[in-house]
Amino acid sequence: MTSAATMSIASESLARRAARVVPGGMYGHQAIRQISPAYPQFFAAGNGALITDVDGNEYVDLMCSWGPIVLGHCDPVVSQAVRAQMELGDCLAGPGGAFVELAEALVEAVDDADWALFGKNGTDATTACLTIARAHTSKSVILVAQGVYHGAAPWCTPNPTGTLPSDRAAMGYFDYNDPASFDRALEMAGPDLAGVMLTPFLHIEGRNQELVDIDFARHVRQACDDRGALLILDDVRCGFRLAFGGSWEPLGVRVDLSAWSKAIANGYPLAAVTGRDAVREAASAVFLTGSFWMNSTPMVAALATIRRLAETDGISLMRRAGARLRAGMLAQAAENGLAIRYTGPDVMPYMTFDGDTDYERMTLFAEAALRNGVYLHPRHNWFMSCAMDDEVIDRALKGTDVAFGEVRKRFAASLLPSDRSEEHP
Ligand SMILES: *Cc1c(COP(=O)(O)O)cnc(C)c1O
Repeated sequence: MTSAATMSIASESLARRAARVVPGGMYGHQAIRQISPAYPQFFAAGNGALITDVDGNEYVDLMCSWGPIVLGHCDPVVSQAVRAQMELGDCLAGPGGAFVELAEALVEAVDDADWALFGKNGTDATTACLTIARAHTSKSVILVAQGVYHGAAPWCTPNPTGTLPSDRAAMGYFDYNDPASFDRALEMAGPDLAGVMLTPFLHIEGRNQELVDIDFARHVRQACDDRGALLILDDVRCGFRLAFGGSWEPLGVRVDLSAWSKAIANGYPLAAVTGRDAVREAASAVFLTGSFWMNSTPMVAALATIRRLAETDGISLMRRAGARLRAGMLAQAAENGLAIRYTGPDVMPYMTFDGDTDYERMTLFAEAALRNGVYLHPRHNWFMSCAMDDEVIDRALKGTDVAFGEVRKRFAASLLPSDRSEEHP
């Protein structure tokens, strides 16, 4: 194995073959070459906090597969549970016992969960929440924050190519953390409000992250109560990483429905919707299904993942790793005289360079980090996993230190105070 991204022969060859038989060669957020041609598209293996591309280059994986990997790649306990289930069968005539056990585990772990149901992807879960909210209220409008990702279905995809305006006809938009903007959206919805969907904090690609303002969360809760609408937490990205249980439990703001996916099964395909008793009847009335939704391996993986997170206090491990990374990177930026913003919770951080409106610095930084064995994204938040011990974080910091140095060298001439006026919002 080589220690850094120096070779890309196998990856290039696969990309050329894919270009012939796959539309665009790759699609969606996985079209990694849109970030930079330096990024490998294809990976061969993952182990703990490390990933290896098809050319044998090894990286500290600060993306955690865009969120799903929470314990670490190939966690031995999860892998063992999956292997045991695979021996028995995965896709059977119906769900196995793990289906019920997992629903019980979620109801136990999440304050606002009186029931749970399962699908495959986060989009399954967020879309089911909309349908359930509409069934429960017999109303149509769903309010969401402007620019926030809720999945790739026609009602929410960030790229509307091929969708119809009518797909979003019953959607309304407001600015996250802005009560005046929220009230205007409420007014537009009038008496037809079915629900409000929010992420636990604000994460929009390429922008500094913002924690939720508790007064705003309470304001939305009150508005939903006043109008008989449901408050839906899209916990797909944050769930079981920000907190054990619901991401807004520490805030004390209750939610009616929650959508889960990414981290709940440490990389195995599973999504869940949880809800309160008041919504149980609507949830049982709507038709929710998928050919692979009842497969047992992701369910045993989720059970093992949630148990491991509880037993090892995984949330604290990730917070510790995140705090070490933040402190290290802030110090490195300061030593290099670079003005940065390091935003969001430590377990899901993102960084921007002041004045870097075209992401030139961030792209250079990410490419340099990649060459030095650190896999991160220049415009999407990063993720901590429980496999990131001090040694792993220090290894990542070695790579980021070189990367900061390269940015300083390239932009030395423009690092005057006047250059710092432009910022990401
Ligand atoms: C990833 C994500 C989704 C969609 O999940 P998929 O599994 O990609 O369908 C929805 N909401 C949020 C906040 C997400 O981060």
